[in-house]
Amino acid sequence: MTKRIFRSICLVAIGVFIASAMLFLGVLYDYFSGVQQTQLGIQTRLAAQGVIHDGTGYFDGLDVGDYRITWIGQDGTVLYDSRSDSNDMENHLQREEVQEALTKGVGESTRYSNTLLERSLYCARRLPDGTVIRLSVAQNTPLMLFLSMIQPICIIFLIAVGLSLLLASRLSRKIVQPLNELNLDEPLSNDGYDELSPLLRRLSAQQQQIQQQCHELLLKQREFEVVTTGMAEGIVLLNRAGVVLSINPAARRLFGTDLSCVGTDILSVNRSSELQALLLKAEEGTHAETILELCGGHYQLDASPIISDGEVSGTVLLLLDVTEREKAEQIRREFTANVSHELKTPLHTISGCAELMANGIVKQEDLETFSNRIYTEAQRMIHLVEDIIKLSRLDEGLGDQKQEHVDLYVLAQEVVHSLQPVAEAAEVTIQLDGEPATLSGIPQLLHGILYNLCDNAIKYNRRGGQVKVSVKREAQTVRLCVADTGIGIPPEHQERIFERFYRVDKSHSKEIGGTGLGLSIVKHAARLHDAEIALQSEPGKGTAVTITFPIQQVCESEESVWKP
Ligand code: ADP
Repeated sequence: MTKRIFRSICLVAIGVFIASAMLFLGVLYDYFSGVQQTQLGIQTRLAAQGVIHDGTGYFDGLDVGDYRITWIGQDGTVLYDSRSDSNDMENHLQREEVQEALTKGVGESTRYSNTLLERSLYCARRLPDGTVIRLSVAQNTPLMLFLSMIQPICIIFLIAVGLSLLLASRLSRKIVQPLNELNLDEPLSNDGYDELSPLLRRLSAQQQQIQQQCHELLLKQREFEVVTTGMAEGIVLLNRAGVVLSINPAARRLFGTDLSCVGTDILSVNRSSELQALLLKAEEGTHAETILELCGGHYQLDASPIISDGEVSGTVLLLLDVTEREKAEQIRREFTANVSHELKTPLHTISGCAELMANGIVKQEDLETFSNRIYTEAQRMIHLVEDIIKLSRLDEGLGDQKQEHVDLYVLAQEVVHSLQPVAEAAEVTIQLDGEPATLSGIPQLLHGILYNLCDNAIKYNRRGGQVKVSVKREAQTVRLCVADTGIGIPPEHQERIFERFYRVDKSHSKEIGGTGLGLSIVKHAARLHDAEIALQSEPGKGTAVTITFPIQQVCESEESVWKP
């Protein structure tokens, strides 16, 4: 601004100076031209007097200096000229001043030379005899005058320019100083220029408005931060260019970043192609979602465009933990596939045997074998379906099953007793140790735990082997242990045997009527009782499964104990 004012003042000062100088020169020139013309008139009158008195004798020895004197006859022929030979000169009748003198008595005119650098002033007077005496004098034109004075003009001009610069610089600084010293934080406290008052008032009003809006924004931002900080879901706000504006702690944890990512491109935080595709869709204004694997879990990533004034101004990314859902989905898929597979084999066998029997291909003596086969496979299917039903009930939780006081020792006695024939058939001895231990639980589920563990201990035993069941009451827990001297479980399988349909040796398990669901039922039932399972097994030596029921499950009172 200072520069502009300075420039303007300089230009105005120089312009005014040039215009004034021109005007001044013009006025002076005009004045002196007038003076010269008057003097020329007087000189002409004097010369006319001289010629009237002396005739041609007047011109003898006449020194006219810068003047030129010409005597012209009535017909325009030049009778005398102080500069040229009158005989060589052309007729002057048509000259403007001569014509005017012949008609009016006195005539004047001005003529420029070819170069425009000089002009001649003429004054003619008619004599009583009809001849005309004319005087002329050369005069510089304004241009010539200017050129002849160029040196002093330039010096004056330079001085004027210098002064203008100095004054302009001081003036511009002085004008701008109050503006530079304006206190914009408190616009109304300024008392500089009156002309600025409306602007300062407006500024003050707008400042108050901005402060109010900032305060509201701050409150909203804090509200947003409080809400998003406590959220388990990750939330990220991006601008139109994909730059992170805000990211909550959950999202920071999932993307493995910190607050330094604010202000950077989201793709520098996570470079996955899924995210890139999602952002492209959001940029086009469409909602999109995908599943990302982050921090060992599955997260649903939702990208919603923020649309304002019909244009996409940013994107909101929402990260939802769907690990459990994905896992459940995966388990469901696997379970369906496994169930179909497990049912297919016995159904094929039953169908094949029944077809052979229906077609009369089976011999009479083989009928019993075929019937037994059908019965065994049907039994296997029944066991399988029963186990599936049990598991699905366990999946649904306790439901309306009521907790009762159960003496685990009494329950174990019952299970051991019922499995005695099976153990004898497998040439395995089964025995129970321990003491009465009452806990609060669901009898059917506890029975399921005991039955499956003991059944496995017999099934996966060797001839002449042993199964030891013990129920011990400890300070805060009841410990159930089922140990066998069977085939054991290789270490690499120990982690997985509690999964549905997982078997170490599939064909062996099927051969002995296993469904692959027994230990899953045990695991679920134990979980519903908040019990912990521990497995110790050594291939070729045996397996011990210990289930520890926690203190809450242990019942102090012996009243209303469930009896089988
Ligand atoms: P299954 O109906 O096949 O017995 P389970 O879920 O009860 O299914 O057991 C899963 C697998 O764990 C079995 O197939 C078997 O290979 C192994 N297993 C379970 N208990 C024992 C044990 N006491 N000794 C050796 N292996 C066992």
